[in-house]
Amino acid sequence: MPTANPPHGTPSADIVTGCHVLGTDDHGDPVWGHVSARDPGGRGVWLKSGGRGFDEVSYDDVALIDFDGALREGTGPPPREYPLHTEVLRARPDVNSVVHCHPPYSIALAATGQPLHAFSNGAGPFAGGVPRFEEPVGLVQTAELGAAVADRLGDARGLFLVGHGIIAVGSSVATAVTTAILLERACRLQILAASAGGVSPELHHPGKRYVHAESDGYLLRTWEYLVRRLEATTRSGT
Ligand SMILES: [Zn+2]
Repeated sequence: MPTANPPHGTPSADIVTGCHVLGTDDHGDPVWGHVSARDPGGRGVWLKSGGRGFDEVSYDDVALIDFDGALREGTGPPPREYPLHTEVLRARPDVNSVVHCHPPYSIALAATGQPLHAFSNGAGPFAGGVPRFEEPVGLVQTAELGAAVADRLGDARGLFLVGHGIIAVGSSVATAVTTAILLERACRLQILAASAGGVSPELHHPGKRYVHAESDGYLLRTWEYLVRRLEATTRSGT
């Protein structure tokens, strides 16, 4: 029997909304990728299960696991790459949500070996650079690999898993999902610029110009719009 919808603002409700927002923004691949949220009671991590497209995720697809991957609530099973989430959350007390997904422009730009140049307004969260995890490990399925990814992430907001996808982090599901969307947009703009001759060298230095979107307040205003757009799409049935 389907689970009753949890109250708005709970981790599982936030994860479902975050997945649906990502599902309207070409972040699915098509059923891979996940969103997690730290349990406010310290019991572990709420996480979307594997094998479901972002746009079709329901509350029954979100489960609570502990930091060793044991199921605590819900039906699971958790995705095999749950250590990406648990180890980043373990390493970053300032982070309460992790997004891992496979957006096409981010994967494509990372594959070129070029750094992301934060030359657009929405690229502000990445003005300090986007670290790269380049080890050819395939899926991140162990705590050791998850810890290595967390170490490479450092205090950044996003990371390229080269040849695989991205992770984006935030103090909430709202800011982590919005960060993933802004990272993909920044990569798309850079690829667009490359097709027209490339980014001017004077814009290669992050944080100097045209970058204003670094605050959580900016991210939250963007998130509120993304949710309004999702709700309008749902109402219209398109
Ligand atoms: Zn993946």
